[in-house]
Amino acid sequence: MTCLHIPSFVAPTTYSNVYKEECLLCFETPESLNGIDVCLTCLQSGCSGPETMNHTSLHHEKTGHKLYLNIKKIKLVEPPKKITKLVVDESLQEKYETKVKTWCVDCKCELGNCEQIEKAVNGIMNATSATQKQEIKSWEEVVEACEHTVCLEQNPTCSSGKQIISRLKVPKKCNECDMKENLWLCMTCGNVGCGRRQFDGSGGNNHGMEHFEKTGHPVSLKLGTITAEGEADIYCYKCNDMRLDPELESHLKLFGINVKTQQKTEKNMAEMQLDQNITFNMKTVDGEDYENVFGPGLTGIKNIGNSCYLASVVQSLFYLRPFQQEYYETAIEHHFNCREKPQNCFECQMGKIAMGLLSGNYSKPPLNLKDQLGISPTLFKSVISQNNREFASMRQQDAFEFYQFMINLVEQKSKIKGTSPHLPFQFNLTQRLECANCHKVKYSNVTSNSISLMIPQIENASIINCFEATVSPENVQMNCPSCSSNQFYKSTGFGSFPEILVIQMQRFVLNNWTPEKLDKKVTVPLNKFSLEQFRLNGPLENEVELPNQDSKPSLNEAALDQLMAMGFSRLRCEKALLATGNRDADSAMNWLFEHMEDPDIESPINNKLASVDVDQESVALIVSMGFTDTQATKALKETNMNVERAIDWLFSHPDCGESPSGGNEKSQDGEGNYKIVGFISHKGSSVHCGHYVCHLLVDDKWILFNDNRVVHDVNPPFENTYIYFLRRQ
Ligand SMILES: [Zn+2]
Ligand SMILES: [Zn+2]
Ligand SMILES: [Zn+2]
Ligand SMILES: [Zn+2]
Ligand SMILES: [Zn+2]
Ligand SMILES: [Zn+2]
Ligand SMILES: [Zn+2]
Ligand SMILES: [Zn+2]
Repeated sequence: MTCLHIPSFVAPTTYSNVYKEECLLCFETPESLNGIDVCLTCLQSGCSGPETMNHTSLHHEKTGHKLYLNIKKIKLVEPPKKITKLVVDESLQEKYETKVKTWCVDCKCELGNCEQIEKAVNGIMNATSATQKQEIKSWEEVVEACEHTVCLEQNPTCSSGKQIISRLKVPKKCNECDMKENLWLCMTCGNVGCGRRQFDGSGGNNHGMEHFEKTGHPVSLKLGTITAEGEADIYCYKCNDMRLDPELESHLKLFGINVKTQQKTEKNMAEMQLDQNITFNMKTVDGEDYENVFGPGLTGIKNIGNSCYLASVVQSLFYLRPFQQEYYETAIEHHFNCREKPQNCFECQMGKIAMGLLSGNYSKPPLNLKDQLGISPTLFKSVISQNNREFASMRQQDAFEFYQFMINLVEQKSKIKGTSPHLPFQFNLTQRLECANCHKVKYSNVTSNSISLMIPQIENASIINCFEATVSPENVQMNCPSCSSNQFYKSTGFGSFPEILVIQMQRFVLNNWTPEKLDKKVTVPLNKFSLEQFRLNGPLENEVELPNQDSKPSLNEAALDQLMAMGFSRLRCEKALLATGNRDADSAMNWLFEHMEDPDIESPINNKLASVDVDQESVALIVSMGFTDTQATKALKETNMNVERAIDWLFSHPDCGESPSGGNEKSQDGEGNYKIVGFISHKGSSVHCGHYVCHLLVDDKWILFNDNRVVHDVNPPFENTYIYFLRRQ
């Protein structure tokens, strides 16, 4: 039988997105028994043949596309396992024998040869696949120039700068101490200072940064990272980020550095992160190998480069009932009905990863390897991080931030469907204020999807001690709207208990303004335990509520008078001051002239605090300490834009940054009895480097998920955890 269907496609060009590494809806690859199919018409991939889910037929049903290229690779030699920065490894291709054939899904036969088909096949086989393109893009750190590098003014007047100029030689030692590596050259004056102190005390003595604080010289370059191509690690202290210096060559010339003759001797940031990621010891305390386990729910996730934070969180979430219900049980149905392109559809990819992890199809003992290969999160990652530059990059990320990101994304996406898989994670954090004099009270609630616990500095702290330290009552000063007192007691507690309680342990703290990682052990109960003693509901029958307070922020009265004297209405003046950070009459006046024509200029100020402008430099500084943008902004508003007080405030408000509930949804309250069913640990000096693994309780056994390796851990490290997952009992 021959196929008479007329080909109606064109060969792919370099701009086409060719999917040829994995079925878009499951994890079949060219190495699978039947290989995979690439649609010759639209270049999407599917699977076909016995023991597959026949996603090629599904694609055919949805689109009518009939003609496919089947690619099957037969492995000849083991490919190298180490992840390198070079994603396109030519030598890899020689280790496979690749078989291709074209076929028609309607006629169930191979296609005859014709020039058009031949061209298309060659085009597909030679194309850089869409996922490879994605990976290469993510590896390239998105480093841009800033005003400080572009408008850099060089002025080598300080002593070390003068020395450099006179001898045309850059010193190989910090100007302030004896450090000889991790040295940063000030691009303004030529000062050489050592790098920042890390959480674990390694790194440098902060002399480079101190130089910036003293002089305001914004841009520094890490010595030893200059390449002959004119690249280098350049840091802007003002922007608090890696930057690009478009005039690097001429800027360095002033210090006698000829870019063309440079050789890179020190590791750059990306390389340092990779190193830390790969060196993780997988032996038990006794030096024994762990026992590998296989089956449904015991599927590993391949490390695609600094992706262990993602793997740990994804494993934990899909282990939990709400995610299984929402994405595993509906996956086939969604794949069947979905009209979007699978490579762009959030639901398609959530379903795919759920089936990949939970079906057991990809967790089988490999023939000649110890560990399973694990499923690749590349497509999943690219879909969920479409609008997030950080999570799209190949940099290491904070697993806790990623958890919050995922829960918020899931909430947002499921609203459209009318489901709410995020609700079992939500609860009310209640704050109670009591006037020390008249004893009237005020209760307020915020919705949260996690609680962040302080670790008290006591011997043998238990997790209950951590709860106590976090919610313990404190004295605060505020004016009582009911009497003249300004002394209040403040306490915090659970207004409701969620089905799944996620706990972040505050292991990364500031100690005398130095970031530090707390390796303190915290003991946890392994059986059911109660948190009911931390429930806080009110007002109680015998309590009298405080009258509602006017929450209007105090305005700069002098500026207000000045503006009103110019003839503006009080409302407009208040608005202008709020919008310009309540600083002075001048900025407020400029704002007023710019916003004279605003349609809402005469409408009342509704959310007064929300409109206060926040200084972006201060936000960046706080974010660099590990807080989120929202937290930083909120804290600054709460503390009159004072950075130090804002950070203090954040540490005393661990729950801040959660958006208050919309009002319609109710958290599902229940008894506060819990059992720990999973936890994520972190090895390394800061949340933004090092390695994450997770442990989950499967059939009463603790299973360690370390990227693609899934093993039974008989001695799990409960006490050094970063994130706990508790399930209501
Ligand atoms: Zn046909
Ligand atoms: Zn498939
Ligand atoms: Zn197609
Ligand atoms: Zn800058
Ligand atoms: Zn130093
Ligand atoms: Zn300087
Ligand atoms: Zn879909
Ligand atoms: Zn009072």
